[in-house]
Amino acid sequence: MLKESYQLLINGQHCDSNTGETFVTYNPATGEPLAKIASASKEDVDRAVAAARAALETGKWSRYPASRRGQILNRIAQIMRERFDKLVELEVLNSGKALSAAKGQVMQAIEDFEFYAGATTTLSGETIPVPNGFFNYTLREPVGVCAQIIPWNYPMMMAAWKIAPALAAGCTVVLKPASLTPITALVLGDICLEAGVPEGVVNVITGSGATIGSYLAQHPGVDKVAFTGETTTGKDIMRRASETLKRVTLELGGKSPNIVFDDADLDAAVDGSLFGIFYNTGQSCEARSRLFVHERIYSQFVERFVEKAKKLRVGDPFDPNTHVGAVISAKQEEVIDGYVKLGLQEGATLLYGGKRPEGEAFSKGHWYMPTILADVTNDMRVAQEEIFGPVVVIIKFSDEKDVIRQANDTIYGLAAAIWTKDFAKAHRVAAAVKAGIVMLNSPFSAFPGLPFGGYKQSGYGRELALETLNLYTETKSVLSYIGEKPLNPFGV
Ligand code: NAP
Ligand code: MG
Repeated sequence: MLKESYQLLINGQHCDSNTGETFVTYNPATGEPLAKIASASKEDVDRAVAAARAALETGKWSRYPASRRGQILNRIAQIMRERFDKLVELEVLNSGKALSAAKGQVMQAIEDFEFYAGATTTLSGETIPVPNGFFNYTLREPVGVCAQIIPWNYPMMMAAWKIAPALAAGCTVVLKPASLTPITALVLGDICLEAGVPEGVVNVITGSGATIGSYLAQHPGVDKVAFTGETTTGKDIMRRASETLKRVTLELGGKSPNIVFDDADLDAAVDGSLFGIFYNTGQSCEARSRLFVHERIYSQFVERFVEKAKKLRVGDPFDPNTHVGAVISAKQEEVIDGYVKLGLQEGATLLYGGKRPEGEAFSKGHWYMPTILADVTNDMRVAQEEIFGPVVVIIKFSDEKDVIRQANDTIYGLAAAIWTKDFAKAHRVAAAVKAGIVMLNSPFSAFPGLPFGGYKQSGYGRELALETLNLYTETKSVLSYIGEKPLNPFGV
């Protein structure tokens, strides 16, 4: 299934970059090269945007009956189901994530297509009452050519979150996956074609974000940019997109609080908090990386949390028993280790981890142990900056108001988890935290259909939900005069 080399997908054709340039993508768990990937030039971007534009203007996709678009989205999902094991294998190879995590994410990608397959037929306008003699209706039209730029942490799932609603809304797409993990997005592009999406509707281009990503974000042929990635990249994209006032949706970073009250079910809170940070090797935008623990249960909770963290198996991503896979790159490993050292300088106490795991299994590739820093205060840099690795900081709190204030004392606002048996308190705190996604006594944050996105510098716009279709459509209001006498408003 893994090929030696992958080409660009432009206008339904596989092609090399016009410069012939390529780059190599690696297996993070071994550091070994996996495949050669075409490195698109700006001319290739122009061609991809032109193909998407032409496919949009002919209406060859948007004018399909909605039910037929839905049928094709279902067909994409069906092909993905048939090739599930192979897609999971490619995802694990290219991302180093644990098999169990990859399975869940590929399954969610499938379910996203199925969700939006159904959603296509919900898209419709309205008739709105207007003064006598007039008649109004609204149309929901595709927003146009969408540039979609995605990160490396959930390669296939992010591609699905982007492509599925765009196709449901009748848009055309130029998708740019992260350079570290381009393979499954390219494969998904092929599946779209195979399922019956017309040529030029989904184009996938690979290459440097700094060069072609930024070029795409300011391209005059693009109507909308949907981006998931770092907050700093998001700001740059927004600036570039403003030149032609493109529609922009941004899913950015986070430093999400995980709040454990003294009346929580301790076992559930320990297990959920563990998953909340160490799932996907901590490389999740919604990772609950700030763990607030009530002072009355602090020592008890922390002791159990550390004990359970020691049971997490780090290692071979293909081993079904592995909990924590590899870190994406050497650079990311360095960043993570740098933050842990910084935390110690800032006065944190290392309770577990803080280094690369030892042993033959870790002699190659990029790894970091689940790491727990205690005695952290919310003003430390390790509590304010996104680390994007398996590192949790523990902060002690004394009362509800105080923890809400601290939880909100961050530039981010993506997610928050709350552990308590007092449901009035749970809903009070859920209302008070500034976050787009709140989890009550649960570590899970995303199901198809539920809006996903952030407050503050975690971005704006919501993905994964019906309302996402609003962000892939424009509303056109059509007002007509239906009176018997001709109108003569100037009276001349
Ligand atoms: P990133 O460095 O911002 O890169 C994301 C994508 O943008 C990649 O495809 C990258 O291409 C491209 N890119 C880089 N510079 C660009 C520029 N100047 N203009 C246009 N595109 C550019 O993010 P990452 O390191 O891949 O991913 C980690 C981040 O994603 C974290 O901050 C995480 O919180 C965030 N994230 C958020 C969500 C969410 O839903 N809120 C979900 C997942 C991840 P190259 O790969 O070629 O550099
Ligand atoms: Mg990055």
